Amino acid sequence: MFDFLKFIETIELIEKDDEYINKSLDLIKDDFHIGKFEIVADNVFNSYSITIDKNYKRKNYFEYSKGDFKYIFYRNSDNYEYTDYDISTINSILRIVSMTHLKYILMKKANDAEYISANTRLPNTHGFIRDTSNVLAINNPINYNVYFINIKGFGLINKLFGQREGDEAIKSYADRLRQFIDKDEVLGHLGGDNFVALIKKNKHLDFIDLVTMCPIEIVKNNNKTKVNLIGVVGYYELSENNGASRDFLSKSSMACQYARSTKKIVVKHTEELEEIVNSVKVIERTFKDELEKGNFIVYYQPKFDIKTGKIIGVEALSRWVNNGKVVPPGMFVPILEKNGEIIDLDLFVLENLCKDIHNYRNMGHNIVPASCNLSRRDFENDDLEKIVINIIRKYNVRTEDIVIEVTETTNIEEKERLARFINTMNENGILTSIDDFGTGYSSLSVLRDFKVSEIKIDRSFINRELLSDSDEIIIGSIIDMAKRLSINVICEGVETKSQAEFLIRLGCNNAQGFLYSKPIPKLEFEEMLQKIGTVYD
Ligand code: C2E
Ligand code: MG
Ligand code: MG
Repeated sequence: MFDFLKFIETIELIEKDDEYINKSLDLIKDDFHIGKFEIVADNVFNSYSITIDKNYKRKNYFEYSKGDFKYIFYRNSDNYEYTDYDISTINSILRIVSMTHLKYILMKKANDAEYISANTRLPNTHGFIRDTSNVLAINNPINYNVYFINIKGFGLINKLFGQREGDEAIKSYADRLRQFIDKDEVLGHLGGDNFVALIKKNKHLDFIDLVTMCPIEIVKNNNKTKVNLIGVVGYYELSENNGASRDFLSKSSMACQYARSTKKIVVKHTEELEEIVNSVKVIERTFKDELEKGNFIVYYQPKFDIKTGKIIGVEALSRWVNNGKVVPPGMFVPILEKNGEIIDLDLFVLENLCKDIHNYRNMGHNIVPASCNLSRRDFENDDLEKIVINIIRKYNVRTEDIVIEVTETTNIEEKERLARFINTMNENGILTSIDDFGTGYSSLSVLRDFKVSEIKIDRSFINRELLSDSDEIIIGSIIDMAKRLSINVICEGVETKSQAEFLIRLGCNNAQGFLYSKPIPKLEFEEMLQKIGTVYD
């Protein structure tokens, strides 16, 4: 006699483990001459099939349909005559199997939603924490790094190609990363353009190569476009006792945020970085005091003539010295921009620059034209032009020795305000420069709309590995066009000799970048002036 209760008891356990479908069917296969049992799903779910015996014949089967599924028992013998009792029992069993299975699928889906990111099917935050805990329970954490990756400028891809294409691009990126991951590693997708990964330390360099330079194809209206997705990476090196802790996510995310703020590509989490990030939080309250106390200082980054190797100008960049640590502007400028205090810093830097131009000239050096940066928020002040001109006059600096760097904008009102500023500067003989040129949306129209004296091509254009042939043509023609309009061109972010050679080939001889010099403190800059000299010496 078939033991129904035992069958139900077993199959109920399917909540814990879908193997229990098999186990419970094992109980019935002899009683009812069952060969194979199959669950056929439509394409909504992945097809699902369980075999309990290979020795079956296909033509005799029992079938039951429910929802998107079909449940089939194949008989393993043609000779056996089923009684009415057998058949009604088998039908009941099928119904119970289907019910339990559907319940299982629903639970699995609910569970998935909790642990899996819908777009990429990769673990989400919960899933990543669960999976890393599992991996680190049986592997020594000291062999692992945790990475937090944010795709650079991804908003632009969504804007240019559309949301759906953006999602596809994220999927392609996820697939490339997935192929790299071993069984004892974890890749997660926190949604949007944020990924996390637990990777063995000995694969660090290969992983960085992969995530920071990932060519994918975007298809829109049958047009294929090759795009290089660049992951900005923050990572945290696990130590022996990191296994149980979850703070590796916040630590790697902090490093990634730091990389984004300071426009770096890869940043490792360190104690010092953590101190800087935490200390920055107070700047909102303490800015005015800190400025007064002299804790904001000016660094100088010289600009070079690639051909002669001489200094042709300099850019003033602010730094905050907080508890002996030098904090880069990416960490505090956005905060000051938000609360509108950035103008005080920008005018402070301009004033210091003017003082120094005056002093250096007396010392016999010519570091001009010298530039400083204005934030977009500064233009909310209607008197900005007057204030800037007054500072320049106060220090007896010739107007043509100063370059004001501003950034492009797409906002129409901001555009009009910016045009007014640039025109007034022109009328007063003060030079202006469009900083980070090419990162906005309307680069070329800027040349037409604004009568600037200089454009500074953004460093992302100069990174040769990222350049396609068409990029090269675009930059080449920007340089040509600027020259025809008598606009000076300089490239920022030149880090290698080959990048410098590339620039010469495109007809741009002016460069600023780590190949020549990082931004340095005033005293170091003065030593450099003595040693290298300027083209005007
Ligand atoms: P920016 O005006 O485009 O300045 C150039 C930035 O690029 C500097 O970063 C410099 O260190 C960095 N850089 C120069 N050469 C290279 C290179 O070869 N490779 C790489 N990877 N980076 C290079 P810094 O000093 O951290 O400044 C970042 C940004 O903060 C500046 O970008 C500017 O937009 C803003 N900033 C700095 N000082 C001020 C300020 O006083 N006022 C305002 N409003 N913004 C400022
Ligand atoms: Mg600048
Ligand atoms: Mg720039």
